[in-house]
Amino acid sequence: MSSDFPAYAPSEEHELLRQTVRELAEAKIAPHAAEVDETGEFPQNALDALVAGDLHAVHVPESYGGAGADALATVIVIEEVARVCASSSLIPAVNKLGTVPVLLSGSEELKKKYLAPVARGEAMFSYALSEPEAGSDAASMKTRAVRDGDHWVLNGVKMWITNAGVSEYYTVMAVTEPGAGARGISAFVVEKSDPGVSFGPKERKLGIKGSPTRQVILEDVRIPADRIIGAEGTGFKTALATLDHTRITIAAQALGIAQGALDHAVGYVKERRQFGKSIADFQGVQFMIADMAMKIEAARQLTYHAAIKSERAMNGEKVPDLTFVSSACKCLASDAAMEVTTDAVQLLGGYGYTRDFPVERMMRDAKITQIYEGTNQIQRMVMARQLLK
Ligand SMILES: Cc1cc2nc3c(=O)[nH]c(=O)nc-3n(C[C@H](O)[C@H](O)[C@H](O)COP(=O)(O)OP(=O)(O)OC[C@H]3O[C@@H](n4cnc5c(N)ncnc54)[C@H](O)[C@@H]3O)c2cc1C
Repeated sequence: MSSDFPAYAPSEEHELLRQTVRELAEAKIAPHAAEVDETGEFPQNALDALVAGDLHAVHVPESYGGAGADALATVIVIEEVARVCASSSLIPAVNKLGTVPVLLSGSEELKKKYLAPVARGEAMFSYALSEPEAGSDAASMKTRAVRDGDHWVLNGVKMWITNAGVSEYYTVMAVTEPGAGARGISAFVVEKSDPGVSFGPKERKLGIKGSPTRQVILEDVRIPADRIIGAEGTGFKTALATLDHTRITIAAQALGIAQGALDHAVGYVKERRQFGKSIADFQGVQFMIADMAMKIEAARQLTYHAAIKSERAMNGEKVPDLTFVSSACKCLASDAAMEVTTDAVQLLGGYGYTRDFPVERMMRDAKITQIYEGTNQIQRMVMARQLLK
């Protein structure tokens, strides 16, 4: 995309893509969303439908067998899937999160070996940074990687890993030089089938119940030396650079959840009658709907703007404010999603509080977008640091 491309405008192709994903999501993913939430089962049907539509990892470049879609297209896919099922939207989102470290810093061999199966829909790719004692302060991680001849040997426990167990591949950050802080951390590709890899039980969560969140346990996992992503000691830099691109996908997920809740609430208030008329006729209700839509649209514009910046950075342009805008859109969109979904429950009254309607699930699903890929307090720290440096 050239630098004179209008900063906010999705092209006709982007809008066509939105229509395609919306149709697929409504036909194949939405009908299972409540059941996925109820049972906590991984949404295999959603994965199958996304793979059949080549929508499971659209960001993988054509040179590695992918669809080669830009960051804005990826955002639109995630947004539209999240509009009906937040758990399923983590399929394209986490495929991007896991692979961006390889795309940004991996060797050509690693890219060829690991991106093609993801593009073909044969493997998913998770991202393992957090640990039980190292969340916001991720650089204090303890997982160790020790060089042994032509191999690295990894030991440690990664916590909260999205899609753990179903993903074939994992970007794992580990300490290679103790005492060197963030500069002593390196990134590796670990495979599910590597001897010594196991998974903890599924976390019992408030929302996104269909997306398994598990520990990844590494016990003397011996991997070939060339599985390191980039140079030794650059893993934390890669991990943070990745988040600059992928926080935008969490904003997209938040937007989709919020839009799904707004669409449902608008339909409901037009149908529901009290005091002899439609509740949509009450100005108190109209103002709520207007505020909800206004918050979503503001967050959407910033998210698309950030996505275009992300695409430019991926193409080698210097984008000094990428860190700021990606944190800003994640924070704004996730706060908006929490407010909008809470208001949607309010607009449905008692019915909104039950599992008979999807807004209750959407409110629970929205909460995670304020927590992962850096809590919103951490986003505000990141933004302030950019402003004050
Ligand atoms: C469902 C789920 C999926 C996840 N998926 C992944 C994944 O795929 N890969 C991965 O690596 N991680 C993943 N995470 C981890 C997630 O990114 C962390 O939970 C998050 O970064 C917060 O870390 P923590 O939970 O240790 O909280 P803590 O860091 O302990 O924070 C606790 C509270 O303190 C606040 N706080 C901490 N430090 C500061 C500060 N300096 N200033 C102000 N407030 C502060 C936080 O904002 C928060 O409110 C996932 C988490 C969940 C719940």
